[in-house]
Amino acid sequence: MKPSATIIGGSMAGLFAATALSKKGWEISIHEKVPVPLSGRGAGIATYDELADLVFKATNNNNVLGTTAKLRVSLDNDGNINGSYNYPQIYTSWQYLFSILREQISDENYYMGDDCIKIEQNNHEAIAYFENGKKKRSDLIIIANGIKSDLRSYVDKSAHPQYAEYVGWRGVVNEEEISNKSLETLSNYFIIVLPHNQQIACYPIAGEGENPFEIGKRRINWIWYKPIPTKLLKELLLGKSGQQYEDGIPPNEIRQEVISDLFEEAQNNLPPQLVELVKATKQPLIQPIFDLKSMKMHNGRVVTIGDAAFTARPHVGMGVTKAAMDAFKLSEYLGDNFNLDKLSNWEHSRLKESQFIVNRGRKLGNYLSLPKENENLIMPNIQNVLKDTAISLYDIEDYQ
Ligand SMILES: Cc1cc2nc3c(=O)[nH]c(=O)nc-3n(C[C@H](O)[C@H](O)[C@H](O)COP(=O)(O)OP(=O)(O)OC[C@H]3O[C@@H](n4cnc5c(N)ncnc54)[C@H](O)[C@@H]3O)c2cc1C
Repeated sequence: MKPSATIIGGSMAGLFAATALSKKGWEISIHEKVPVPLSGRGAGIATYDELADLVFKATNNNNVLGTTAKLRVSLDNDGNINGSYNYPQIYTSWQYLFSILREQISDENYYMGDDCIKIEQNNHEAIAYFENGKKKRSDLIIIANGIKSDLRSYVDKSAHPQYAEYVGWRGVVNEEEISNKSLETLSNYFIIVLPHNQQIACYPIAGEGENPFEIGKRRINWIWYKPIPTKLLKELLLGKSGQQYEDGIPPNEIRQEVISDLFEEAQNNLPPQLVELVKATKQPLIQPIFDLKSMKMHNGRVVTIGDAAFTARPHVGMGVTKAAMDAFKLSEYLGDNFNLDKLSNWEHSRLKESQFIVNRGRKLGNYLSLPKENENLIMPNIQNVLKDTAISLYDIEDYQ
């Protein structure tokens, strides 16, 4: 009989796990809590050869994944290039990756509106229970339900998300809504600028209409990291309606005065191209930055993968690649049958690499929170930031 896996979470990690195990002959089912097709999270995704290889393995899709920026540059206050680093890179979008992975899974194996609330296991099987009363038995349960996972406690009770004490303001703007003058820079480069205690980065990503990769039809994706200590985060996440949000806020609930302050700060502190970009954004988003480390990724027949196991800060640009590697390595270790010993070997291989990635994210982002009392803030050299942000693991000097 074929081995079977129940996958909780129908986003990147879940889809990679489903495609990887299916290719080894497993029966899989994906259970996604959201009742409608997922869309548009974390618009821009930096890619590397290792991710392109795994996407190809998953989809047989050999098309280029997105837009290319050949050079990384920094800008001075007048908008002139004052530093550069040669690192040609392809930027894709969450939506595009999701759509090509989702096509690999038949609708009868992808259940929407299935909120998993409980897991049990014994010597013969693992059982997932859903809020809608469903119950699913299989050889293996894969928890792929993101950083906020409660189910993670079935594998590691000690792992909890940690707030980094800064937020990323984010947005995307269609190229056609930006002046030609600003587009000369914004369309051609991965740009990073370092205001004091902050960072703003932007790069072109696919557009939404026909010819999404054609210059002029694409979008510019930006993220601006600013320190917000825990005690001020609450205030930032107080919605228009008066509702207090905890670790994220729906975009349409962000108060107008908060957005006006952001635009004013952009006007005062950013190069002119970035002022235009930020102010042209119809609906900026706020992303409080959290990360997460686990000590364990498996307990018997239950494993965690992707952001549910380890979440790195976005500076490493590694979340999707890591999720894909968790999934494909799992399928390589297990092959075409269920074996507990092999799960331990898989866990061992993934823990070390994932810890390295999360630690690197902390190192790259450590100047973005407010310095502690008696601590001097030391801003990094922009050249190092251009060289270290969102690069392939194989280009990192201390990665083995
Ligand atoms: C600002 C920002 C920029 C980023 N940039 C990059 C980048 O350049 N490159 C990169 O590789 N990564 C990047 N990332 C990270 C990347 O987006 C994530 O690592 C990746 O999407 C994680 O995928 P996942 O499937 O593990 O989790 P998620 O995408 O969080 O998916 C979890 C899924 O599980 C579902 N779910 C939750 N609970 C349940 C339940 N009980 N039952 C059933 N379903 C459930 C959720 O609805 C969700 O669909 C970035 C992230 C941020 C915040």
